[in-house]
Amino acid sequence: MQVEQTFVMVKPDGVKRGLIGPIITRFEQKGFELAAISLRTIDRNLAETHYGELKSKPFFGELVDYLTSGPVCAMIWQGPHAVENARAIIGKTNPVEAGPGTIRGDFGMDISGNIVHGSDSDASAAREIGLFFDRDHVAQPSAQLFGGTAVAR
Ligand code: GDP
Ligand code: MG
Repeated sequence: MQVEQTFVMVKPDGVKRGLIGPIITRFEQKGFELAAISLRTIDRNLAETHYGELKSKPFFGELVDYLTSGPVCAMIWQGPHAVENARAIIGKTNPVEAGPGTIRGDFGMDISGNIVHGSDSDASAAREIGLFFDRDHVAQPSAQLFGGTAVAR
């Protein structure tokens, strides 16, 4: 079985509201394996680089303010179809549209505070993991769960 990795980040509103635990629980219950985790406050430079593709959007400044407003919990989760499975349990970008049972649907109220980030492609996952983590701090997949070697494609 091919095992992929994806980058997930509990945003500052999720951290402040005590949702790291519930979010980790949902990823574990889905079947993901945690490969790395780091609680940190990010600077504007990292936030702007992370969301570089949104630079021209009218809400970009507000988005960078949001991401730097407190600590974030950056994580790498791994498993089959990691990017797609993570996006499925996170839900649509706007919590108003995210279905019940998804993280954003259950915990969020407005697009300005949508709790969590998940990479949108394998290429994005590899780029974002590289921005937030040193390779030697990332666990390999456990033999019991998946076996093989994890790749951020
Ligand atoms: P995602 O991949 O589902 O997170 O959505 P996008 O990549 O399109 O946008 C990245 C992030 O920008 C979202 O998760 C929101 O935090 C923020 N965002 C997107 N659209 C809007 C918007 O219209 N207004 C505001 N304030 N933030 C937005
Ligand atoms: Mg996105």
